[in-house]
Amino acid sequence: MSLGHEDQLKIAAVREPGTAPSSHTGSPRRLSILGATGSIGQSTLDLVGRTPEAFEIVALTANTNAQDLAGLARRHRARLAVIADPGGYEELKNSLAGTGIEAAAGEAALVAAAGLPADCVVAAIVGAAGLKPTFAAVAQGRRVALANKECLVTAGHVFMSAVTAAGTELLPVDSEHSAAFQALGTSDLADVERITLTASGGPFRTWPKERIAAATREQALQHPNWTMGPKITIDSATLMNKGLELIEAFYLFPVGVDRLDVVVHPQSIVHCLVSYRDGSVLAQLANPDMRTPIALSLSFPARMSAPTQPLDLVKLGSLTFEAPDLERFPALGLARAALERGGAAPSVFNAANEIAVAAFLEGRIGFLDIATTVATSLDRAERESLFRAPHSLADVLATDEAARAVARNVIGIG
Ligand code: NDP
Repeated sequence: MSLGHEDQLKIAAVREPGTAPSSHTGSPRRLSILGATGSIGQSTLDLVGRTPEAFEIVALTANTNAQDLAGLARRHRARLAVIADPGGYEELKNSLAGTGIEAAAGEAALVAAAGLPADCVVAAIVGAAGLKPTFAAVAQGRRVALANKECLVTAGHVFMSAVTAAGTELLPVDSEHSAAFQALGTSDLADVERITLTASGGPFRTWPKERIAAATREQALQHPNWTMGPKITIDSATLMNKGLELIEAFYLFPVGVDRLDVVVHPQSIVHCLVSYRDGSVLAQLANPDMRTPIALSLSFPARMSAPTQPLDLVKLGSLTFEAPDLERFPALGLARAALERGGAAPSVFNAANEIAVAAFLEGRIGFLDIATTVATSLDRAERESLFRAPHSLADVLATDEAARAVARNVIGIG
């Protein structure tokens, strides 16, 4: 089951009183985590480690970080650990020798691990690299807790069709989408006037454009509210992350692009607001800690405990909101334009951004060049007829590759 309007009703119709993992008395919940060594992966394992009797870890995966992966697999008694980079296999195997934990390497092993029997697969690989394994989990009918927004941004309709065809459940992990999911409940989407995602504004929210132009890697990696992986932290500084989230919301909650909005909220306490046609606005509030939305994705429809700071509104004193500045932060406008262009434009947006962020982190381009690279890549990709709507994962991956080549060319690195 997906999160479209009909499916939300379906969730409501089939909803049984839930059992939270923390109060679990039956068999443990089987969990696989794709991207276990990353920020989301480790937050998930932090929750798991607090009620280990409630979970059984089927598979943990990483890209190159064999040492940390082995450590996590041992600590959480995983059955299988998979390293995507075959070069890490020896180290992983040696680190797990004598533990009884199976080690495997390579893309095929990663995809196979994603489809293993499990009650939930947490899709937390960063970037388009997460597509194949997440599609594999969906195809096997696994419930997916989706952090990898790229599945929706690059494969939108193809991904949602796969979810529907498999008759499986998709639970959003992104805090704004988890908030929208909660504020929407079982409401009829026809009653929704607006879904407003909040954005912290990132570290450069108050900086003038000339100062932003000279922003360093270290400055861009200092997020004011959230602790996250490097790619999404840069995306938060450019507001590309909010653009990606706008596209993600478009597919998860099909109210139409005109009814999706973004407001800057520097405190990151309100994560999303849903405005209804009777004037009611429902919002979800929580301190900025990814363990809150991750916990819901693991326990839905029940709730489980998360060790996050209780929200103290009196101590906070005030919550502020402002309109995003599209001149200093053009990413949001680019994301909306990509959605309006349709077809594979969002996929090109994502691929160009991934290449540009990597180039920025490597010191090859400046901070403002990230958005410029994405804009130029979108224009060139359109001229090269790369916006044809994808019909399969193979189409999506082909467009992704072609768009990366365009973006590398724009930057002058390929
Ligand atoms: P991180 O960079 O912290 O972690 C990424 C994980 O993916 C690591 O386990 C990494 O392994 C693995 N990985 C990277 N490249 C590959 C590859 N080519 N093949 C297989 N595995 C790979 O990312 P985050 O945890 O920050 O983000 C993960 C996803 O969740 C992203 O899509 C992000 O947009 C989304 N998200 C993240 C949030 C956050 O708070 N961090 C909030 C909301 C969404 P290794 O350690 O070996 O490199």
